[in-house]
Amino acid sequence: MVMTPEAVITLVKPGEKMKICTFLWVYYGYPSSSYEGISVEQMRYNCGKLLARRDNVAADTVAGVPDSGTAHAVGYANESGIPFSRPFIKYTPTWPRSFMPTIQSQRNQIAKMKLIPVHDLIKGRRLLLIDDSIVRGTQLRETTEFLYRSGAREVHIRPACPPLIYGCKFLNFSRSTSDMDLITRRIIQRLEGRQNEEILQEYANPDTDKYHDMVEAIGREMNFSSLRYHRLDDMIQSVGINPDSLCTYCWNGKE
Ligand code: SF4
Repeated sequence: MVMTPEAVITLVKPGEKMKICTFLWVYYGYPSSSYEGISVEQMRYNCGKLLARRDNVAADTVAGVPDSGTAHAVGYANESGIPFSRPFIKYTPTWPRSFMPTIQSQRNQIAKMKLIPVHDLIKGRRLLLIDDSIVRGTQLRETTEFLYRSGAREVHIRPACPPLIYGCKFLNFSRSTSDMDLITRRIIQRLEGRQNEEILQEYANPDTDKYHDMVEAIGREMNFSSLRYHRLDDMIQSVGINPDSLCTYCWNGKE
């Protein structure tokens, strides 16, 4: 995942009120930065902590998808008591972005080559892996397969934010170009055969059966041993500022 070293506070205007993009803390803020007095690194520890409090999975080790998942994983490990480790390392020194080929298949190949397994930390282990989010799911599925090939017994996935159900319409950094790029939307389409606002709202609510059916279907499709997302209320609590100041549109469709 790409980080912006000097991310500036990102204000968007859903409806008439200026709000701050919550992804600033979850994903693209630099770890040493603070926004609205809230440290990016600390917020990610909070996310991991609240994820762990709702979880009961049996795992041998907690890891983060580098780089943005790492701090969330530290928070999870500290709260759960499951040891943190780095079962794979992202190798970057000789693959700076400027050398990246323009052809997508070659870029995918290089992305795979950048993940170096630490076999002793993977073989026969039950891994709990935290990523900042799941957009299309392609990369995380490949990472999971890479861990199975490297000998992992189980790979449990815990995204540090809720399912992305709405594409961002406020910022141009968005990693999806269409709502149907989102894995949630593809699964909802498959489950329902149609989509409208009422249906989407049911799937955005973590207390509904539909939400649970969607999460189960995503986990199955991605071949995860289990999948559990961060809840929106917990994510907002992880930031700790007035929820009215935060944009959460891509998770709940509310402006
Ligand atoms: S919709 Fe999501 S990505 Fe876009 S500004 Fe709001 S919180 Fe950020």
